[in-house]
Amino acid sequence: MQVSSSLVDRRPTRQISVGDVKVGGDAPITVQSMTITKTADVEGTLQQIYALAAAGADIVRCTCNETEAAEGLAQIVPRSPVPIIADIHHQYKMALAAMEAGVQGLRLNPGNIRKPEHIKAVASEARDRGIPIRIGVNAGSLDPSLYEKYGSATPEAMVESAQHEMAYFDEVGFDLIKISVKASSVPLMVEAYRQLSEVTDHPLHLGVTEAGPPPAGLVKATAGIATLLMEGIGDTIRYSLTADPVEEAKAGRQLLEALGLRERKNVDLIACPSCGRAEVDVIEVANKAMEAFADKKLPLQIAVMGCVVNGPGEARDADLGIAAGNKRGHLFVKGQNVAVVPEDEMVDQLVEWAEFINEHGVDAALERVDLVKAAREAEKDRAKLLDDQGSDANQATEKIVEIRKTTRS
Ligand code: SF4
Repeated sequence: MQVSSSLVDRRPTRQISVGDVKVGGDAPITVQSMTITKTADVEGTLQQIYALAAAGADIVRCTCNETEAAEGLAQIVPRSPVPIIADIHHQYKMALAAMEAGVQGLRLNPGNIRKPEHIKAVASEARDRGIPIRIGVNAGSLDPSLYEKYGSATPEAMVESAQHEMAYFDEVGFDLIKISVKASSVPLMVEAYRQLSEVTDHPLHLGVTEAGPPPAGLVKATAGIATLLMEGIGDTIRYSLTADPVEEAKAGRQLLEALGLRERKNVDLIACPSCGRAEVDVIEVANKAMEAFADKKLPLQIAVMGCVVNGPGEARDADLGIAAGNKRGHLFVKGQNVAVVPEDEMVDQLVEWAEFINEHGVDAALERVDLVKAAREAEKDRAKLLDDQGSDANQATEKIVEIRKTTRS
């Protein structure tokens, strides 16, 4: 079972607790997402929270924008499988109500609650209850005086906004803080977080705000979040996608697993890009495999390869894989052929072997079969393919000869 290791040296930060989930310090980087239901709809919101937790969210945020939402939180928090953070905009009284409802964290936007006495009232209550607050600076809603001073939402303006809010918290002796400086522009948010990480050791919550719908939203969010994580910056992350929030939670978890920052829980499906040698429609088989493994919690790397000539070798580090050859699939475990299966059973067999390996391990899987016989079968198909296609399966040499004839005539 392969667990990729990370080469990232994380920037040291203080640690806080959001309920029973630690954020910062040496705690694993966590995934957050936000419900899109009305918080007053208790059953609907809980259903979404459970779906988010199953998809990989460690912490979930719910809006608390009205009394009914705070009342909903009083019923949601005790039944939630993960800690709940209340998102507060404009009304500081909603922050007090959310704490009364039992939430494990708050998110305040300094651009929206501006009266120092209101900020301090919330911070004092949070201090007395031991509830952490995220200072959520957003490039789109900075205090007007900062726009005036800097001319636009610059990284410096965003960092100053966070520091300004921190000063109020300091005044009342409150330091259970995490901070975000989000922007929809990737270069702006990356630079803002870099500068922020130079001036504070509070844990940082990373995100590209209003990233938009996938795939562009996924690309933008990944570009910003991954860049910072690879520099060791960031303690908790959120993808802000215009999509079902379950997609946000999945993306967050997948990113951390891909960077080796969280232990793998899900299948890492790799597939060859296909070429003239491919014996199957690699895209179709890979999609079918992705679908078949979607809800299975198997921490394995699984390969889908288009041909038996190079497939098992190119994916020899995968725990398990399938390579197509002569209308059948060659299953291989750690690069060794173990079985030949009909083409239409490739994905089902892949699932069966993955479940076996997950339960019994790679060695047991290799002992399950006659490796010599399986290797012989694979070699037959490999030789036939090479005979049929030669060593230049893409006919590149022939094409180059034709190109030269055309351009030189
Ligand atoms: S040589 Fe085989 S495994 Fe490699 S890209 Fe082509 S089809 Fe895929």
